[in-house]
Parts: sequence; C-alpha cells; structure tokens
Amino acid sequence: MSTVPHLLHPLPVTIESISTEGNNVTFYVTEPLPTGCPNCLSPLFTKSGNSDDRLYRDEPLRDQHVTINLKRNRYKCKACNRLFRATIPGLDTRRRVTTRLIEHLEAHFHKRSNVELAEETGLLEKTVREIRKEFYDRLFAERQTVTPKVLGIDELYKNGEYLCLLTDLENHTLVELHIGREKERVVQYLRALHSPKDVQIICIDMYSPIRNACRTALPHAKLIVDKFHVMKLINDKFTDALKSLKRDPLKSLSRKDTTWLKTTYTRLEPAAQRRVDTLLQGDKKLNLTHQAKERFYSLYSAPDRAHAGAILDDWLKFVADQHLSEWHRTADTIRDWRDPILNFFDTSPPITNAFTENMVQKIKALNTKAKGLDFETLRSKALFECVPKTRAVKRPRINPFASRPAGFSAGFSIPPYDEVIENLGIPLHELFRVWLKDSNVPNLPEKSKSCV
Ligand SMILES: [Zn+2]
Repeated sequence: MSTVPHLLHPLPVTIESISTEGNNVTFYVTEPLPTGCPNCLSPLFTKSGNSDDRLYRDEPLRDQHVTINLKRNRYKCKACNRLFRATIPGLDTRRRVTTRLIEHLEAHFHKRSNVELAEETGLLEKTVREIRKEFYDRLFAERQTVTPKVLGIDELYKNGEYLCLLTDLENHTLVELHIGREKERVVQYLRALHSPKDVQIICIDMYSPIRNACRTALPHAKLIVDKFHVMKLINDKFTDALKSLKRDPLKSLSRKDTTWLKTTYTRLEPAAQRRVDTLLQGDKKLNLTHQAKERFYSLYSAPDRAHAGAILDDWLKFVADQHLSEWHRTADTIRDWRDPILNFFDTSPPITNAFTENMVQKIKALNTKAKGLDFETLRSKALFECVPKTRAVKRPRINPFASRPAGFSAGFSIPPYDEVIENLGIPLHELFRVWLKDSNVPNLPEKSKSCV
C-alpha cells in the first residue's frame, strides 16, 4: 500500500480502500484532521454529528473515470461554539471536482470539445461547458488588447448572419470578432479599439461599407485592398466571359483550353501557348477579353506605385477604347478602388490579408466541427483557440568543418594530430634509441618494440 497514496497526490487525504466498477475507479478516503477552528484559530474542537460521504470527480486515471468518496466530518469549536469543516486544499470550492481536474480540462479546451472531455472525465457535458465558460471569462478579464498598427478586416458568414473579424497583420493575432458588417456597426467596432489613433494601415477586401466605415472611424489610416481580392475580381470576370463564349455552339472550348486561357500566358508551356494563340487568332472577342485579363495581371509585377498607376490607367483606357461592355462594371469598380489598390505598392514588405483569410477559414472549421455554435462561444473559441500555424525560423545551414578558427573542433572529436603533439617533449622512439645504445641491451622484446 505504500505507493497508493501517491495516486491522489497532492490531495492530503488517506486512502482507505479502492474499488473498480466498469470504467470507474472509486477511492474511499478520509480527510485530515483540522489544525484549528477557522474562525478563532482555537485548536480545541470536538466532532459534531455523524460523518457523511461526498463524491468528487478527479482527473482520469489511465482512461478510467475517477471518483473520490470522501468521508466528511463536522467539528464544533470549544472556544467560539461554531461548527466547521476541515479545509482540504486541492478540492474545488464550488463544484464536487478536484482542482487538478479543472486544470486538466483547461489544458485540453483548445483542442477538444465539451462532449469529448465529458466522456473522458465522467462529468456531465453541462458541467464541462460551465467550466469552459468560466475559463474563458477569466481569460477575457486578463486579456490585454493592443491596438494593431496594421489592421486586417474580413467578414464571414455564419448561420444567417455576417461576422466581422479584426486581426493584427503585423503580429499575426486575432483582435476581435463582432456581429454584423454594416457601416455603422463597423464604425463602432473601430472606435472601440483600445487606441484607434495607433492604426496606421488597414487591409480590407472590396466591400464598400467596410471601406466607408474605415474612412469615417479611422480617417488617418491608409487603406489597402487585399491583392488576392483584386485578382479574384478579374479572374471571376474572365471566367464569366469564357462561360458566355462557351454557350455559343459554334465555339467549342475544351476544359484544357479553358484552363490554359485562364493561366497567365507567360507561365504556359510553349505547346499551350501555341494552342492559346490559335484560339485567340480565331476569335476577336475572346482575344480582347484575354488581353484585358493579361494586361491587368501585369499590375502586381510593377516595381512601384507610379508604374502600377500607369498600368492601371492603361488598362482602364483599353477597356473603354475596345468597348468591352462585359468589363465596364469591373472597370468602374477598379476606378472606384484605385487609391486603395495602389496603396499596396507603398509598403515594404507588401501587406495582404492572407492571415485574416486563414483565420476566417479556421473559425469556419471550428463552427462546422461543433455543428454550429452560438456567437459568444464561437468568439471565445476563435480568440483563445485559433492559434496560427507557427513557422520554424530558418537558420542558415553552416558546415561545421568549414572555416572554423584554429583549434576548434565539433563535438568531442580529437583535434587535428599536429596540434596534439605540441610541446610534449622528446619523442619516445628517440628515448628508446638513446636508452638501448647506452644499456647494451641487444634486442628489445617484440611487444616492447611494438610499443615504440
Ligand atoms: Zn472557534
């Protein structure tokens, strides 16, 4: 029995017996004697009434639920006549659970659901949910929000409503998740930031109410449209144009043709380029639409804002001059967003909303995994559980044997031979030679010779 008390360490209880039934282990334990009355600290007290059994849930033991059956006593202080119970550290004061079980749950909340944790520990799902909520409330109270210098904004759709996600694009952290993406609401959210004047750059997608909200709430901040949203606008437009061409029974475009037409021309293999050339030569409308796409694609290869501005203006002129009616609405949008598009070229390194998009996908996955969460739970889970993927810091690979200072060697290997023999005196074979010469010993034994 000497090792048994360690099973419930650090609970200061004495294990009287253990029973196992199904997936549950029950420890029958007795409490330690109190040191004194908690009210007057008097060490004089007597037991009062009968003891009663109380069941506590503890951390699982080798995949088995653990129940602690604790025999509790009541005591009466002889000095102040008050009734009291012994204080047992390690037991939660609000629930019949041990504090280490709560710590176990808190350590696993970020990767396991309430149902999974309830199954593992033997608690009710409702109890796990309550403990999780208290844990998040504590985290919210301790949370220190820092206003990002580079703010990312994106929206996501969940159960019939839009949510607005704010991120710190510099430090790759989630700032806040809000309900709604209407201008007035977003203005409120931005003004509620800890220090709105600290925001220097905002990266958004091409959604006008959010742009207008940013201009109202944070007029000093530079707006940048996410590069991938701009490219997506052009790609979608070109795909639509191809679809309308495909509907013409006289023009047959295979799936491969469509893929090649959508791909940037310079990235195609020579054979694919020849096929695209043939397709474009035979169809003037397709040729112009393809040119519109290709000309826009060169925008993000521009070395600076001035070049990018020139490419954009050329593109707008091309669409207008060639009367590409299906591109007119896209051209209007691009014209409307010209400044935020070109602001992309003012920052180094370039700023995109890729991190925000990544977090949106993670939050959607959280919601799907839990089969739909209420907003507050989703918000807590998003803020405390959506941890971005960490990237290993790349260190340059150095050959340990190349260009090291003299005398350096890696690990415990023997340094180069010519450094070992420094200052070791006269070589042994010289000593033997002198000794043999003086002592007239005719021959050394074979073994000694080999030692020389
Ligand atoms: Zn007392």
